[in-house]
Amino acid sequence: MQVIQSTTPIFITMVCCLHGDETFGLKVFNFYQPKLKNLPGLRLILANEEALAQNKRFIDEDLNRCFPGAANGNTEARLAYRLLPHIQETEIVLDIHTTTSDIEVTPIVTSLNARVRQVINACGSTEVCLMEPPIAGKSLIGQVGAGVSLEFGQDYAQLSGMEYVESMIEVLLHHTSRLPKARKIFSVSHTIPLEISLPNDAKNFTFIPELGGYPFLLGEKSYTTHQGFAADSHSTITC
Ligand SMILES: [Zn+2]
Repeated sequence: MQVIQSTTPIFITMVCCLHGDETFGLKVFNFYQPKLKNLPGLRLILANEEALAQNKRFIDEDLNRCFPGAANGNTEARLAYRLLPHIQETEIVLDIHTTTSDIEVTPIVTSLNARVRQVINACGSTEVCLMEPPIAGKSLIGQVGAGVSLEFGQDYAQLSGMEYVESMIEVLLHHTSRLPKARKIFSVSHTIPLEISLPNDAKNFTFIPELGGYPFLLGEKSYTTHQGFAADSHSTITC
């Protein structure tokens, strides 16, 4: 794990490569590293370096499912335990991911408090995924008051991912805001079991009668125990 920052206090902590096979996170880390001295209040963490070196999602266990971790646990449990203080002493945590599912960028949040709405405002996305405990309980963003995971579709990450991150960081670090707009909040309630057969044209955020809900991260290749997540309902907020 590498933790780098220029000055304190830290306003935003950006976590890259919680999953070692999502190399867009490394691109973000390398992009910001030389610029940090001009970005007071930003901290960067390169999380699972061991998995990154092996181009694997994790070594022993999914790091995003094992918080708060344990001092004497397996590789990821120990890493989660070491990461925790760094993400807790900051106002905002941004957690960079990529997915093979067909999306551009979707923020995932665990609450809709004022600080989280400030981060959503800095995002271009209209769809937001709300994952409350128990689903988010052992995830990184489940450990902090204002944590937002950003799921980038692989193609979008290649094309425009850096610009998306840059524009968010600029808005947040300068304490400015974008014009508020309507955001669809999808409340994720469960995972989609493998045995449910979904229509071929099933799309993220589009209602599926067989499912009785709206899928998210549908067909993500790293999921082996489910086919993605499902939201029972959605609501609209403006921020
Ligand atoms: Zn990930």
